[in-house]
Amino acid sequence: KLSQRLEAVASYIPEGSKMADIGSDHAYLPCHVVKKGVVPFAIAGEVVEGPYQSAKRQVAMEGLEEEIIVRKGNGLEVINDEEIDCITIAGMGGALIASILEDGKDKLGPTKRLILQPNISAISIRKWLLENGWELMAEEILEEDDKVYEILVAEKGDPYRPYKELHKELLLGPLLVEQNSAVFRNKWKSELDNWQRIVSQLEKAAESEETSQKRKELIEKIQMVGEVLNH
Ligand code: SAM
Repeated sequence: KLSQRLEAVASYIPEGSKMADIGSDHAYLPCHVVKKGVVPFAIAGEVVEGPYQSAKRQVAMEGLEEEIIVRKGNGLEVINDEEIDCITIAGMGGALIASILEDGKDKLGPTKRLILQPNISAISIRKWLLENGWELMAEEILEEDDKVYEILVAEKGDPYRPYKELHKELLLGPLLVEQNSAVFRNKWKSELDNWQRIVSQLEKAAESEETSQKRKELIEKIQMVGEVLNH
């Protein structure tokens, strides 16, 4: 059975699309959606030998070798001339996901939808999307086994609808701010507590250019996030 996290990622894959799952590990996601008949064809990409072998084994075990091609390679390099409609990248840090997209820009031509699930630092992805003309269509936040995950869905389109408060929306997610869910509130409440702890430590530390700059930044973030939570 697929994790709730990957189940949520799968729910954004448009029916009938040709997909590529980058950093696929066991290829659980492509196997699941191909078996369900959601997609007719998938590429599972892996850069590390062990996970690449796991993906091949899983696909063979499920008898899906006709539908799923497992390739070893870095990021979007595993896409050749297949017209891939939809790319999923899940279970990595946001900065790594953004760098995979940046390095693979020339492979994104036919791709209509990106479904990205960063474990941390979703802000790096939102920045990349904004700078590269991808529109954020949906955002979801969920908790599973005491971990919080965000899912960002983007489609090629007009650069993002006007941001009212750019920094806040990039950090928190414009659609997640609107949803204002319990998981979202808890996540940022605990970040806030964390920042507050650091600020009080910095206040005790010897003052330097660096500590006062850091403190100023944290106080700004605390105010920004505090406003959203108190809203
Ligand atoms: N996508 C699966 C999931 O969400 O459950 C697996 C997540 S696993 C934690 C991250 C995988 O990404 C690892 O197997 C790692 O080898 C792979 N990976 C990391 N950087 C990569 C890159 N540049 N290109 C392809 N795969 C990469």
